[in-house]
Amino acid sequence: MSLRVLVVEDDRELRSMMRSTLAVEGFEVQTAVSVSEARALLRHATPDVILLDLGLPDGDGSELVREVRRQHSLPILIVSARHQEAEKIKLLDAGADDYLTKPFNVGELLARIRVALRHRGTALAAGETTHEVGDLHVDLNEHLVEVKGEPVHLTPTEFKLLARLVRSAGKVVTHRQLLADVWGSEFTEHTHYLRLYMGQLRAKIEEDPAEPRHLLTETGVGYRLAAA
Ligand code: CA
Repeated sequence: MSLRVLVVEDDRELRSMMRSTLAVEGFEVQTAVSVSEARALLRHATPDVILLDLGLPDGDGSELVREVRRQHSLPILIVSARHQEAEKIKLLDAGADDYLTKPFNVGELLARIRVALRHRGTALAAGETTHEVGDLHVDLNEHLVEVKGEPVHLTPTEFKLLARLVRSAGKVVTHRQLLADVWGSEFTEHTHYLRLYMGQLRAKIEEDPAEPRHLLTETGVGYRLAAA
């Protein structure tokens, strides 16, 4: 059975590009051009993933994030031209899984969909426990981190931070989420901890810490462990 994706996008050209791209990949594609049309479609059937534009003719896509999240756990990917970091954080906190900033390329879109589906799928609560990308190999159960086949020693906090990112590999994790999960909910404003520890992790894991390939910065929002 093919996966169903709902594309909510009022830009005709972009909508048809997304429709054909996703259809080629084997998705069953439904499209809506407005908040109200998306609502109507969602009343009849629940898709497996929603790609959601924010600026829609009859309202803002963010309204839909909250509405959908009240009833469903399906992945919601924001596809938007907007760049405000505060807004991205708000959407992620409201229950969106990730965001893509226009213009994006097709490979990026498909990769984000795959990541979101995987995280919302069977391993919903547990997350990933191993991570193998390029020269980096992490096995959380074995407490093992290797770069180019050589073991890397991490401090307990560095390991917790990396483990949190491995469990959400490919997805953005906000500063607040990282601080709460690694240091505790009373530390969510201490973003300087993150800068410090991310610097240490990069020094140990990245070939060139100034041009990280694994531990990516999402400016003003959080960090993302590259999934491929
Ligand atoms: Ca729009």
